[in-house]
Amino acid sequence: MSTKQKRFFLSEDELPRQWYNIQADMVNKPMPPLHPQTKKPLTPEDLYPIFCEECSRQELNMTDAWIDIPEEVREMYKYYRSTPLVRAYGLEKALGTPAHIYFKNESVSPIGSHKLNSALAQAYYAKKEGVTNVTTETGAGQWGAALSYAAKVFGLEAAVYQVKISYEQKPYRRSIMQTFGAQVTPSPSMSTRAGKDILTKTPNCQGSLGTAISEAVELARTTPNCKYVLGSVLSHVTLHQTIIGLEAEKQMEMAGEYPDIVIGCFGGGSNFGGICFPFMRHTIKEGRKTRYIAAEPASCPKLTKGVFQYDFGDEAGYTPLLPMYTLGHNFMPANIHAGGLRYHGAGVIVSQLLKDGLMEAVDIKQLETFEAGLLFAKSEGIIPAPESCHAIAAAVREAKACIETGEEKVILFNLSGHGLIDMSAYDQYLSGNLQNYEVPDELIENNVSQLEQIIK
Ligand SMILES: *Cc1c(COP(=O)(O)O)cnc(C)c1O
Repeated sequence: MSTKQKRFFLSEDELPRQWYNIQADMVNKPMPPLHPQTKKPLTPEDLYPIFCEECSRQELNMTDAWIDIPEEVREMYKYYRSTPLVRAYGLEKALGTPAHIYFKNESVSPIGSHKLNSALAQAYYAKKEGVTNVTTETGAGQWGAALSYAAKVFGLEAAVYQVKISYEQKPYRRSIMQTFGAQVTPSPSMSTRAGKDILTKTPNCQGSLGTAISEAVELARTTPNCKYVLGSVLSHVTLHQTIIGLEAEKQMEMAGEYPDIVIGCFGGGSNFGGICFPFMRHTIKEGRKTRYIAAEPASCPKLTKGVFQYDFGDEAGYTPLLPMYTLGHNFMPANIHAGGLRYHGAGVIVSQLLKDGLMEAVDIKQLETFEAGLLFAKSEGIIPAPESCHAIAAAVREAKACIETGEEKVILFNLSGHGLIDMSAYDQYLSGNLQNYEVPDELIENNVSQLEQIIK
């Protein structure tokens, strides 16, 4: 029986007091967001009509590496942070690998994923700026659930547009949002012009994140005292998520190790950036050799198969144009894909880092992700979110490679959430009803060929 320490925690006093803004340390800064009509670079003030002012400033802050976590937000973090850093002895044993595998367990947050880290911050800033209503989109519902709870904490009304297919097929997260008092509308809906336009063209449209974003942005623009909040992709969201990596850095030190490889699953990049950027700081500043791997689904492969180009964040083209790896803003993931991470584009910071070779990306087919998820569940006792299974699968690949070379590499991955409300996806896998799916190259080429070539 091993008596080695398995979990590492920080005391309340040791919790980070600042988030890490990697933009300040990047040698090549992300290119600026552009106004959707004039194509001129945006200033924070241009974002104020849609976003909270503080978030708008954080979004474009290229100078301050450290940004104070407001005391009110830090107080809320204390309800579930630090999240544990866990040495995955069970998984190591099941694989028979000499690698040392660690995971940061964000599934212990009250809503079951990392999303609450940014929801609390965004709701706090909204309240402080006198906003009364917040609106957003959600797919499977993790972000909507986090935002609904955070809005309740800070006394705001929340209106959530949920992708219609998820609203119908995943009723429990909708119930969670409603439990916290949010108003949930299936998207596309007839309540906005963007929704009406889509429903007129495609009456039985099942929705996408891009469409739901258009609806939420439109509501924010046309409603006084209402701001739009977002759960991923944008740089200020990733900033808030660096609490994950900053804690992990201290916890790895307690474990007496430093990661050779850091892994996160990849939707828009917030949990990936959250766990990686505090470590990447040492790569940028001290040349520390660490690999950073983003794990994305083969059915939504923007990092591995997309193009680097300016694109909209939403279907209707309301949002600023962002320089990012994208599959095109009208990309709709195949319905057979069960693993989340369905957004068409990647955040601007991660896109720049990938372009500059500071990180890697892998795309993984869904059967491999669920296989890794089941192995993890059986060996560590936690059922991972289907999204998180992508990170686990990438970690398993690296740990297996160590079996061949005999290297005791230190692998750290982020367990972004638990899968207890995603058991229908596991059911599909267990009953043999899931197939692998890769987006055909022609479909991607056709989609991205419609993008305006702003980056020549
Ligand atoms: C939303 C979500 C993701 C993907 O979003 P990122 O911004 O890429 O982190 C991953 N895992 C879980 C559990 C999520 O809820």
